[in-house]
Amino acid sequence: MTVLLFHEDSYRTSFIATVTHTEGNRVALDQTAFYAEAGGQNADQGFFVWEDQRLSVTDVQKKNGQVWHTIEGDVIPEVGSYVHGEVDWSLRYQHMQRHSGEHLLAQAFLRVNPEFRVQAVSMRSSECTLDLSGNPTEEDARAAEEVVMRSIYRNLPFHTVWVTGAELQQYPLRRPPQVEGRIRLVCVMDRMDRTGYWEVSACGGTHVNRTGEVGAVFITKLEKVAGGLTRVFFMTGHEAYRQLTQTYRDARTLATSFSTGIEKLTERVEALRTEALDSRRKLAEAHEALSVSLLSGKTGVQVVPLADSDMLKPFSKVAVAQPDLLCVAYTPDGRVVVTSSTKASAKEVLAEILKNAGGKGGGKPDLAQGSAPFEPLERAIHLWREGATT
Ligand SMILES: [Zn+2]
Repeated sequence: MTVLLFHEDSYRTSFIATVTHTEGNRVALDQTAFYAEAGGQNADQGFFVWEDQRLSVTDVQKKNGQVWHTIEGDVIPEVGSYVHGEVDWSLRYQHMQRHSGEHLLAQAFLRVNPEFRVQAVSMRSSECTLDLSGNPTEEDARAAEEVVMRSIYRNLPFHTVWVTGAELQQYPLRRPPQVEGRIRLVCVMDRMDRTGYWEVSACGGTHVNRTGEVGAVFITKLEKVAGGLTRVFFMTGHEAYRQLTQTYRDARTLATSFSTGIEKLTERVEALRTEALDSRRKLAEAHEALSVSLLSGKTGVQVVPLADSDMLKPFSKVAVAQPDLLCVAYTPDGRVVVTSSTKASAKEVLAEILKNAGGKGGGKPDLAQGSAPFEPLERAIHLWREGATT
């Protein structure tokens, strides 16, 4: 059994230990400050100093009470030798902020509505998740954020205690423990509460000393997931600060480019969207009017080069409705439409053109469309036209 130093002090990053087992590039020690991946929290990283070597620790996993440290490189410390371990503190503190924020947010949801109970957690990336029962809404999420932020401002102390199964009932546990025997409780103390606690749950993870260190918790989105649960995505600590300030700066840059302030950004984007839809509608009307004018009084076989592929749709709509017309229209990007209100099949005409031009397409007897490289396409259309009109 490896002694877990972070259980007593999650701020300890430096330690000396004896190598007890090795297996390939993995090393077990008599004690460690490295947290092994568990409970939705990532493994720590860092390095060992052994003799004159500095060995990177890239992964940490627990198996049968042993903590196995994966070492990068070919050199492995021998059993019985001492190593000096150093945990990557910035990564560890990030995990502590995420994990402590997770406890606070889970308790906050429970305070908003006792139906909101945690079924699963993940803190493996900067966007952490809680899967909750009880169908929380966006409004509930905002209320839970308020509750969390107040607990952060109060800077309540975290406290860890080991208890037996019989002692558990003295504590207002948020959810029943998933382990048996001696149980580690992570408590957020609150002298203003009649129980003396703000939050209590069984947990083997690493946490900050006071709620103020969580810094901030904000919910990024809610999503319905399998099992009738709601996945709450959230960010905490320095990661939340970075995300929020970057988003603010992006929004400010965008607002400045529209010559407005952030508070008017939504209004400005809505106005632009309306303007864009209006312009698109006017353009479609203009294309249709132009198509009517281009085809005015035209019958028989017609070949019409169009300047813009946006014209193809309105043009073919007008062409197909015009009596006694077999029309081929094409654009500089190599798109072609054949329409027919005659006995000739648009589909067959298109097939003949595309066969000579080396293109692809298909359709029906009255309307067919395809594409091919422009120059062979134009040659194939003229070749067909000569055949069709002689
Ligand atoms: Zn925890």
